[in-house]
Amino acid sequence: MECLQTLDVQVLVGVAVAVLAIGVGAAVLFSSKKPKGCLDPENFKEFKLVKRVQLSHNVAKFTFALPTPTSVLGLPIGQHISCRGKDSQGEEVIKPYTPTTLDSDVGHFELVIKMYPQGRMSHHFREMRVGDYLAVKGPKGRFKYQPGQVRAFGMIAGGSGITPMFQVARAILENPKDRTKVHLIYANVAYEDILLKEELDSLAAKYPERFQVYYVLNQPPELWDGGVGFVSKEMIQAHCPAPAPDVKILRCGPPPMNKAMAAHIDALGYTSEMQFQF
Ligand SMILES: Cc1cc2nc3c(=O)[nH]c(=O)nc-3n(C[C@H](O)[C@H](O)[C@H](O)COP(=O)(O)OP(=O)(O)OC[C@H]3O[C@@H](n4cnc5c(N)ncnc54)[C@H](O)[C@@H]3O)c2cc1C
Repeated sequence: MECLQTLDVQVLVGVAVAVLAIGVGAAVLFSSKKPKGCLDPENFKEFKLVKRVQLSHNVAKFTFALPTPTSVLGLPIGQHISCRGKDSQGEEVIKPYTPTTLDSDVGHFELVIKMYPQGRMSHHFREMRVGDYLAVKGPKGRFKYQPGQVRAFGMIAGGSGITPMFQVARAILENPKDRTKVHLIYANVAYEDILLKEELDSLAAKYPERFQVYYVLNQPPELWDGGVGFVSKEMIQAHCPAPAPDVKILRCGPPPMNKAMAAHIDALGYTSEMQFQF
């Protein structure tokens, strides 16, 4: 009897150890599968600028280091971050930005920033030098992408409004299990203003069945096979998926463009559920 009791205790201890081991194992597995991000939605955190590359006269790519070479930013697809800086008067300014990197890019994140001559946050980025720190808070945003959410996205972007589209498109296309189609219309003033053109063209070449891009310019070069002028209703009709419950049109651009695009999209019969403005 005594022997049995000793055995019971031994079995109990054995079971407890096994349960603990499974728990710890699961926690390790879970944490290694879902790495914790570096963002805090309540507080600004500082990230060091480690590289700055000028892409055109007013656009630069900023690379910020994460705490370790294997850290991930932890930004859900479709969301953005708030960046805090100082304008030319020394006043605090906070603006939204979407990294062009995903959580598959470890150890760092990148921002492609268009700097406007009179822009308040533009001033902060213009002044930033390698070694400086940027205060960042997030994730932010009402849009969260889940694979299979829709059959097809139409995307209408203007200028720096390309960054949220690029992030969503990259996440979709780089996931071999995701069959979502992406139709992008990207508007700019001149050819030199087109941001991420090399990256967009290489996505279009690599995933021709799932990704198409149609560029529109106000001032096109002499040889130009894209659209000319402002994005029209006809261009949207020709280059975006037709209205359907499993289609969504995303837009992000300067306020006057967003307003014009909303009117076009309404007129073409896309319901409010079929539209989203970043
Ligand atoms: C979800 C989201 C993500 C974004 N991601 C990025 C990003 O990754 N990279 C990026 O560069 N920007 C991005 N933006 C835009 C960014 O938030 C700022 O609006 C932009 O950097 C201008 O801020 P500013 O303080 O310098 O200019 P402001 O002080 O707000 O504006 C001053 C002047 O600059 C000019 N200006 C400002 N914005 C525009 C514009 N969009 N088009 C034309 N002229 C303009 C106007 O002349 C304006 O009067 C994003 C916006 C949103 C909503």
